[in-house]
Amino acid sequence: MQETSKIVVVVFDGLRPDMVTPILMPNLHAYSVANSWFREARSVFPSMTRVATSSMATGAMPVIHGIVGNAFYYPEVSRDFVLDVSLASDIALAEATLNGRFITATTFGDVLAAHGRNLAVVHSGSPGSTYAINPGAAINNHWTFSVLGEAHTKTPHAVREMVARFGPLPPRNLPRFEEIDYATRVLTEHVLPDINPDVALIWFNEPDTSFHYKFLGSEETLAVLAHVDAAFQRILDTIAARSDAQDIALIIASDHGQISSSGQVDITELLTGAGHPAAKASARALDGAALAVTGGNMGEIRVLDGDLDRRDAVARWLMAQEFTGMVFTPSDDPILGSVPGTFSTRLVELHHPRSPELVYVLRSDTSRDAHGLPGLGLITGSVPVGGGMHGGLNRHELNTLLVLGGSAANGSAITDVPAGIIDIGPTILDLLGLPQPVSMQGHTLRSAADHAVERHAFTASTGGFVQSLAIASRGGATFLVHGERQG
Ligand SMILES: [Zn+2]
Repeated sequence: MQETSKIVVVVFDGLRPDMVTPILMPNLHAYSVANSWFREARSVFPSMTRVATSSMATGAMPVIHGIVGNAFYYPEVSRDFVLDVSLASDIALAEATLNGRFITATTFGDVLAAHGRNLAVVHSGSPGSTYAINPGAAINNHWTFSVLGEAHTKTPHAVREMVARFGPLPPRNLPRFEEIDYATRVLTEHVLPDINPDVALIWFNEPDTSFHYKFLGSEETLAVLAHVDAAFQRILDTIAARSDAQDIALIIASDHGQISSSGQVDITELLTGAGHPAAKASARALDGAALAVTGGNMGEIRVLDGDLDRRDAVARWLMAQEFTGMVFTPSDDPILGSVPGTFSTRLVELHHPRSPELVYVLRSDTSRDAHGLPGLGLITGSVPVGGGMHGGLNRHELNTLLVLGGSAANGSAITDVPAGIIDIGPTILDLLGLPQPVSMQGHTLRSAADHAVERHAFTASTGGFVQSLAIASRGGATFLVHGERQG
C-alpha cells in the first residue's frame, strides 16, 4: 500500500449507488470499479443530511454525536419551538446555550487541528450540514467555504476571498448546475493548488435537491447526474496533473440515498383528530399542543408534558394504522422498545439523552417507482408526491456510495463487506497516521477485510403489526441494512 500525504473527499448528497452506472455517471462508475467500492455501505438513522453529516464527521452514530434529527425538540435550548438544525440561527442558539457542545463528540477535523493539520471544505448544502462537517472550523483555524454565502459558514472570510477571486456567487437555480460549477472551480483552482490542505472536502448538494423536487429518474435529474459526474472528472484531472498525485488518497461518498414518494399522510392532523393535539415542527410554535411532530417520511413525536400514558397510547394508535411502517421507543432492552410491538431506540443507536419518546417511520417497500427504480414510500409532505425522500430505514435510503481510491485503494475490488459513513473519519485519520478518538465507532476501511462480520435480523410485533430490521456489524460497528413493516 502506498503512502498518503493528502486526502480529497468528494460527497454527492443523496446519491444512490445503483444510479452510479456506465450510462448515467460514466466517470464516477469507471473510477468506482477501478478502486475499492464498498457496495453495501450504509448511512445512519435517521438517514437525514445533518444527522449523517455529523456521523461522517464524528465517525459515530447519533447516540454519540447527539444530532438526533434534522429537526428535534430540545427544551434545554428552546422550549417554544422545535430546533431546526438546517438554520444558522438555531445552531447559534444551541451553541450559545451548550457552551459550543452542540455536537457531543470529537470530529476528524478536531483531531486534524490538534495535530497541526489543515482541513478545507467547499460546501453547497445548508448551513447545518456545512457546520456539522467541521463544527470547530473557526477555532480549528480551518477553512470552510459555502457557495450559499457568508451567513452559511463559521469562516465567512472564505466566501469573501472566493468572491474576490471568482466573482459573485452563482444564482440558485434548480437543478443547481451553476452552484456545482462554482464549487468545483473553488476546489480545483483555489483549494487544491493554493491552500493545498492535508484534507480537502467538497460537498455537492446534488443530486439530492433534484431527487426531492424533480423526481429520481426524470430527464432533469439525469442531466444533473451527468453534470456532477463531469465535475468529478475535473477534480480527478486536477489531481492527476499534480506531481504528488501518487500520494493522494480519495474518498468518494454520499450521505444517504433516497426513495420515491407514493402518497401523503398528514400525521399531525390525524394525531390531532385522534385526541392528541399535535404541532408540526415547521410551524415554529407549540401553543396548545400536547405533541411536537417532525416529518418527511419519518419523524419524532415529543410528548410535551412528558405523559408516558399518552406516549403509549400514541404508539398503539400508530401501530394500528396501515400507513405506519416502523415505531421505536426508548428502552433498557437492546432490541425491544418499552411499548409492546416497538423496537428499542438502542437497536438503531439513537438512544442519546436528547432522543425523543417516540420515533415513527412511514410505510415503504422495495417496489418500483414510475422510472423503474426500487423504493417507494409514504411522506408527510414537504415535497410533491412522486418526489424523493429519505430519513427512514429502507435499504435504498440507507445504501450510500463509498469508494476508497488513489493511494488508499487496495487494488480494484467491489466488496459487500459491511461499511458505512461512520468509517470515513477513522479512515481519514488512519491514512494520515493520526490517532482515532475513543468516541469514533467506525474503523478504517483500509483493513475492512480483516474485521469480524456478523449479520442479524430482528422482529417486533403486536396484534397485526409486525416490523423487521436487518443489521450487520464489522469489527463491532453497527450498520443498518434494511427495515420495513412485514404485516
Ligand atoms: Zn443529504
